[in-house]
Amino acid sequence: MTSATTHVVLAGKLVDVDGGRVLPAQAIHISDDRIVAVAPISHGVPEGVPTVDLTEHVVLPGMIDCHAHVIGQLESGHGYAGMVMTTAAREALAGVANARDTIAAGFTTVRDVGTFHALTDIALRDAINGGWVLGPRMQCAGAFITVPGGGGDVSGFAINVDQGIPRELRYGVVRNVDEVRDAVRRIIQGGAELIKVIGTGAVLTEGTTPGACEFTEAEIRAAVEEAALYGMFVATHAHGAEGIKRAVRAGVRSVEHGSLMDDESIAMMADSGTYLVADIYNGDYINEIGTRDGWSADIMRKNRETTDAQREGFTKAIAAGVRIAYGTDSGVYPHRDAANQLPYMVRYGMTPMQGIQAATIVAAECMGWDDRVGSITPGKFADFVAVKADPIASNLESLRHLDVVIKGGKPVSFD
Ligand SMILES: [Zn+2]
Repeated sequence: MTSATTHVVLAGKLVDVDGGRVLPAQAIHISDDRIVAVAPISHGVPEGVPTVDLTEHVVLPGMIDCHAHVIGQLESGHGYAGMVMTTAAREALAGVANARDTIAAGFTTVRDVGTFHALTDIALRDAINGGWVLGPRMQCAGAFITVPGGGGDVSGFAINVDQGIPRELRYGVVRNVDEVRDAVRRIIQGGAELIKVIGTGAVLTEGTTPGACEFTEAEIRAAVEEAALYGMFVATHAHGAEGIKRAVRAGVRSVEHGSLMDDESIAMMADSGTYLVADIYNGDYINEIGTRDGWSADIMRKNRETTDAQREGFTKAIAAGVRIAYGTDSGVYPHRDAANQLPYMVRYGMTPMQGIQAATIVAAECMGWDDRVGSITPGKFADFVAVKADPIASNLESLRHLDVVIKGGKPVSFD
């Protein structure tokens, strides 16, 4: 209890993700948007301050998605050439609705790992922080660092069409180490707090091969070094094993997807402490919706070739002690379903507590934001979710339908 307490949240049960345990009957003391103390309710609750009664609920830290794409309309499975048919403004406004769906799903923080219309994610982040629109705290990559025709380029055109492509769609397209350094600086100057490097081909980018490397180790290292000058990390999209190894040796913070990991790349991630952010849910979504809607045969084949392999690698990575942070590739599937991957984390080898930790404190560490989010700890933002049905007993199924979301000490209303 402190004199600064402005209100109190009473938790029937509180998930202590640092200790990996569930505590009964806790009072969370809040001053404006920050947690100032956590103590058993039996120790007393201050008189005369407003109370949010969640004594019938399990209260967890607000969840974190380390691989979100909040900007833009839902992926259509017809390749990214269609990006020239929409505008940055339209994509950003779609992002407003996505941001609302994201926080409604319990994700009070996201690491946004890139958008084709460069820097629109940063505009959305600033709008959320300014209180103009409702959404999660965002750490933004601003654009994709990618080779021409690579996994983060707008591809799928007939030849010789590139003259008319707006520059903002190819903001991070680079050809060598020097251009990598230039692009990293330009993107950070544009407001990014994270750098996203597309290290291999991609499932959803027409004409690219997930197993194929697209950058040299030196090029990835140049991005890591340049970002480090600003105290920032690099997240690397890498499906194939060689691409993962190059990224790990180059010193990236996280490997995204990791679909085609081999034992050596798993061991390297475990040894180096590189985070794995594996989107093990959306392969099922793509298979279902892509079959229904006639997505391109190339994309559907690549999805089949990566989905089961990724899940097998994920299980091995848990056993090897790789640090795994929750990340979904939301934007491929609807943002309101951002918690759908949680039960998959358990199905493929995590304990329910490990799954919760991946989506809270481990994700916060991956972002370098564990000083402000990821656990219910004094000094951090008062971001919580609450659910009546015990998430641990339900193997995290119950987190797909939350009762309460609180961001910065304020219950979020979706009326
Ligand atoms: Zn992605």
